[in-house]
Amino acid sequence: MIESLRPSQLSSMAKEEGIEPDERMRKVLTAWRLFFTNNHADEIERLNGLEERVFGLEVEHSLICLNDTLRTEFHTRPEWTLDIGNMVLKEQVMEGNDSRLVIRVVNFSKNHHFSLDELRMRHRSAMLTFDVIISPLGGPLGWIKRAVYECNECGHRSEIKQRLAREREAPKMCFSCIDIFAAKNKGELPPYPPRDIKLMVEDCYYEDIEYLNLRQISIDDTGNLIHLGDEKYIGVINDEYVGELVTGSIHRINAEIAVDHLPNRDFIKDTRRIILLNIHSIEESPFNVSNASEMSIELEE
Ligand SMILES: [Zn+2]
Repeated sequence: MIESLRPSQLSSMAKEEGIEPDERMRKVLTAWRLFFTNNHADEIERLNGLEERVFGLEVEHSLICLNDTLRTEFHTRPEWTLDIGNMVLKEQVMEGNDSRLVIRVVNFSKNHHFSLDELRMRHRSAMLTFDVIISPLGGPLGWIKRAVYECNECGHRSEIKQRLAREREAPKMCFSCIDIFAAKNKGELPPYPPRDIKLMVEDCYYEDIEYLNLRQISIDDTGNLIHLGDEKYIGVINDEYVGELVTGSIHRINAEIAVDHLPNRDFIKDTRRIILLNIHSIEESPFNVSNASEMSIELEE
């Protein structure tokens, strides 16, 4: 069945594809620009001179809390707010430099500190801090973070941001072909949606990621590990953290709580979900753990 085009459908889809910043986004853009100028100008300049592919810019949580706009938006929509901040950082990397700066918020205030063993689905979307023992799971891999498509008819290219471990999203039709048809036909819409569109595999933007097993730790005053969490949770790291963590290492992590499908199941066909920790930043553990090596033996399986 060939579905026909309705003008209302067109305008709502064009809006989805559009990248015009709205009022709220403009406010956050301005707030980040000012924030980096006031707090990180020297550091950004220094990092700009380095050769690394991706490097993290550590941003204090307390500084974000001092800024009204960033405090509200970061705590309501962390991923969106960080994406905008990373866009601002992109503007500040010198031209011709291939490297990329990413925000890593660290030292979250006490009210973000939590225990993995108490984590439930209701905490979804929250940004929380955990003290954990880590073991990498399966090694580094990549995923298509932004897919690039090209229309076979008119050559128009478009980019669609994807979500990790979800069905890949593709354009539903080519708006450029619709415009071309309308221009030639006194504003008429084409009789059926133009959708001869291909994925440009080589031009997509790929991100490095790695999955980790995480277990909550508790430590006494003398630095002895007194308790290892019962359950293992799965976390995912990206960019400069990939390949850097070793089994049995103890870290403080800051993660956005998300959901994922069961391993070997399909996200769309199976409704059961597990908690996934989207690890935003990793810090040195504040604890000087004396018996970590004995405890980490239990992690090997
Ligand atoms: Zn086209």
